[in-house]
Amino acid sequence: MGLLDQLSRTIAQSVDRARFEAEKFQKTTRLQGEVNELRRQVDSKLNELGQRAYELLRAGQIQSATLAELGAVVDQLRSALVMKEEELKQAQAEVYVEPPAPAPPPPSQSVPIDYGPPASTPAVKQCGVCGFQMPGTAMFCPNCGTRVT
Ligand SMILES: [Zn+2]
Repeated sequence: MGLLDQLSRTIAQSVDRARFEAEKFQKTTRLQGEVNELRRQVDSKLNELGQRAYELLRAGQIQSATLAELGAVVDQLRSALVMKEEELKQAQAEVYVEPPAPAPPPPSQSVPIDYGPPASTPAVKQCGVCGFQMPGTAMFCPNCGTRVT
């Protein structure tokens, strides 16, 4: 085999390999996308199933210790979420307070701002079981999970 033949054969082989790699990349990328989409759908349906099971559990239509345990964990996480949201709301409502001026001009009229929750609920309440303090809006003790309404 001549040198030129050998060379062109080598070139042809590397072209084939490049094409193979490009097609492989395209194919695996497409399949990965399809796998991800199916995973997303499975997760979404599992989430739906979980919510439905939670509702049935709370309605007393499911008797399962395992599900009841999971349900209790969900309740605790929700209480923790409520607490965090409250904390976030308060942090967002914080305003910069200017330090008092040294000179004594009488303070101008200030607009009162109500930072507290609606008057119907106390700002803070305490868990009757463990004594944990939580916002008045909490329905479950974030510490022990007891219903506090
Ligand atoms: Zn408690």
